[in-house]
Amino acid sequence: MIIEPRLVKLSTRTGVEVKRSIPHAKLKTIGAWCFIDHFGPTEQTDGMVVAKHPHIGLQTVTWLIEGKVEHRDSLGSVQEILPGQVNIMTAGKGISHSELSQIGPENLHAVQLWVALPQQFSGIQPLFEHRADLPVLQLDGAKATVFAGDFGDSSAKMTIFSELVGLELDFEDNARLSLPLRPDFEYGLLMVDGSAQVNGQHVAENELLYIEVGESELNITTTTPAKAILVGGVPFGEKIVMWWNFVASSQKEITEAREQWNARDARFGDFEDQIGGWIPAPELPHVNLQPR
Ligand code: MN
Repeated sequence: MIIEPRLVKLSTRTGVEVKRSIPHAKLKTIGAWCFIDHFGPTEQTDGMVVAKHPHIGLQTVTWLIEGKVEHRDSLGSVQEILPGQVNIMTAGKGISHSELSQIGPENLHAVQLWVALPQQFSGIQPLFEHRADLPVLQLDGAKATVFAGDFGDSSAKMTIFSELVGLELDFEDNARLSLPLRPDFEYGLLMVDGSAQVNGQHVAENELLYIEVGESELNITTTTPAKAILVGGVPFGEKIVMWWNFVASSQKEITEAREQWNARDARFGDFEDQIGGWIPAPELPHVNLQPR
């Protein structure tokens, strides 16, 4: 199944648009991955000015293809991220952070992915991790960087709460790659640059190919320079509610988190940054948010 991303305007100072693949009407999660946003490439290097905002019940995984972004959070973390590095923020019971792209010679091109926490871990203490020493595998036809979870014997060594993987595939021109898959995982392959033939299906730039459990191999061919992000995991067996920046198992938890954030409750901590201010949570919809 091919998923076409939709354009979503973020509530940021610069009103940037992202291409959002999931959640999608036809696909809620891929393993525990519950959110895939693709930003750029754009020459607007000051394009990501996301003021202080909260998260609960999830991990954010930020991966840059080009550019430079500074992350700050309520744990006191101040971390610049560059291509080839990953920031993993485990929100657990509550955290707040901001993201500010840095002006430089390069474009800004990035993905931000969310991982849903299983309910038994949703109330854990928040945690921030940065990895600059990720495994890079030279495969026949592509360079693969393991930026989340595990791929074969290689591990991104991030703290995870379900079995999953995140890979960047940087293809050689005219690549023919056979990539081993775990049959107990489902996967999504997002073409962030160029296009590819994948198991006989054409996947255009910005499209995501969803691969159900049971596959043991992806056969990928490319004819132009191309890059893809592969995410996968054991199908997430729990129903979740996703609203704004929150993942929870009930509407009650969402409502509570929203009220606490807008009251600037200590649950989400605080910190100083160069952006200033904070993003208030919007009004809740009038319909009930059902776990799905
Ligand atoms: Mn965020």
